[in-house]
Amino acid sequence: MAGKLTDYRAKRNFVATSEPKGKASSRKSEKKLIFVVQKHQASHLHYDFRLEWDGTLVSWAVPKGPSLNPAVKRLAMQVEDHPSNYASFDGVIPQRNYGGGTVMVWDYGTWEPENDAADSLERGELKFTLHGKKLRDSWVLVRTGKAGTRSKWLLIKHRDDSATEEEITEKTKSALSRRSMASIAAANGGDVERARESLIFLNTSAA
Ligand code: MN
Repeated sequence: MAGKLTDYRAKRNFVATSEPKGKASSRKSEKKLIFVVQKHQASHLHYDFRLEWDGTLVSWAVPKGPSLNPAVKRLAMQVEDHPSNYASFDGVIPQRNYGGGTVMVWDYGTWEPENDAADSLERGELKFTLHGKKLRDSWVLVRTGKAGTRSKWLLIKHRDDSATEEEITEKTKSALSRRSMASIAAANGGDVERARESLIFLNTSAA
C-alpha cells in the first residue's frame, strides 16, 4: 500500500517543505472515511478535492472549486494519491518546491460512497455523500476519458436539499483554523500579497 505514495514523495523534498511525508494508514474499516478540500494558491489557484480510500487520499485538482449548483460541472483532474495526514495541512509550501504556495483546509469532514467505492472508482463514476462544514449531501465524480493519474473527471452536485445557486467558493475562511489565505501565509513565512490574490473570485463564469 505504501507504493501508492511513490509519486507523492518523488515530487517533494521533505527537508524543504513541512508537508507530511506520510505513510499509508491502516485505519480500521469501521472508521468513518475523511474528505478534505484544500484551497491551494500555487502557480494557479485551485482546490484539491481529496477522498480517503484504501489508506490514502485519492485526489483531484479542481481549478474552479466545487459548485453547489447541479447545472454546473466542474473539471477535476486526478492527481497523485496523498497521505491521509495531508488532510490537516493548512500552511505554506516553500517557493521553488512542488506546489509552492499557500494551502488552506477550505472544507473537511467525512464521506460515504453511495455504491461500492472500489468498483465506482474503477468504472469512473463515483456517487458519494459528504458531511462537511461547507459541502454536504450527494455528489458525483464522473470520469470523462481514460483511467489513471491526470485523468479528467467532472465534479457535480446532485439535486437535493443542499443544492443552491449560492457561490460556495465565496466563503474564503479555513474550515479548520478560520484563517484567511493571507493570515495562513503570514503565519508560515509565505507570500501574503499573493495569498490575498486568492480573494479574486474566479467562478463567475460557468464550468
Ligand atoms: Mn494542489
